[in-house]
Amino acid sequence: MSVTVRVPAKVNVQLAVGGARPDGFHDLANVFLAVGLYDEVTVTPADSLRVTCEGPDASQVPLDRTNLAARAVEKLAARYGRRADVHIHIAKDIPVAGGMAGGSADGAGALLACDALWGTGASRDELLDICAELGSDVPFGLVGGAALGTGRGEKLRVLEVGGTFHWVFAVADGGLSTPAVYGEFDRLHAGVDVPEPVASGVLLGALAAGDSAGLAGALSNDLQAAALSLRPSLASTLAAGGSAGALGALVSGSGPTTAFLVPDEAVAGEVADALVASGTCRAARVAVGPVPGAVVV
Ligand code: ATP
Repeated sequence: MSVTVRVPAKVNVQLAVGGARPDGFHDLANVFLAVGLYDEVTVTPADSLRVTCEGPDASQVPLDRTNLAARAVEKLAARYGRRADVHIHIAKDIPVAGGMAGGSADGAGALLACDALWGTGASRDELLDICAELGSDVPFGLVGGAALGTGRGEKLRVLEVGGTFHWVFAVADGGLSTPAVYGEFDRLHAGVDVPEPVASGVLLGALAAGDSAGLAGALSNDLQAAALSLRPSLASTLAAGGSAGALGALVSGSGPTTAFLVPDEAVAGEVADALVASGTCRAARVAVGPVPGAVVV
């Protein structure tokens, strides 16, 4: 018997970053939107814990105990006093190290899959606690939809969304390390008094109203300058999507994926074609959001 969970990627429509705290983390106001690019995580009883992965970026995914899916399963097993004896297979469609929380999605997906396989009876809050221990972006993989993350980003408040937003994602060659991007953020802000991160009322209003043009005008990512500093070529990708008809554009999370908000499906296709033709990205993917979080399929 196996259990498969489908879990979406995310884009941060706002990522407000505070100054470095004494513990090295940053306080965030992080508005997550789950978008329809998915990994599928399948767990099957086995003699011992094993991870396999398929997909275009599979060679970049660690198959040892550092894989977030393996760590999630080990945490759940420890909590319920059982062995983590499953084969975890990840069918990976979310770009790796792309700022779309693919590893976090797999952590949430594996947790939900094993919870169903083992019938632990864990409450939703218990699962969310384990997610938060795994990483700041993991709880959102379970919750999906749209949410405001505060603290390190792991304290979630579900947000109402009044419509469907159309996106194009330009997948870059190679990844960017999230710690390296935060390091560059700190370097760029050395000696600067960084303000407290707050969610934008205009942005939350546009989400609630399903207003694409309003959301496009309010998109913001405080990590964008750091990602562009480490990967200057992303400026050409942003420009290419902008001139092809996107309403707004930003670097997704810590990058290097760039995200383009478009008015409808037809323009999404045009912007995707133009991005590929521009030669400034490896691939372009079309997706809508919000979509639900991790679900057993
Ligand atoms: P975020 O948006 O949360 O910063 P990301 O999308 O930039 O994350 P991930 O795809 O989550 O990046 O991968 C970041 C790193 O995490 C990878 O380079 C890899 O070493 C490690 N990793 C651990 N588990 C996984 C997994 N299941 N899938 C992909 N990467 C994983």
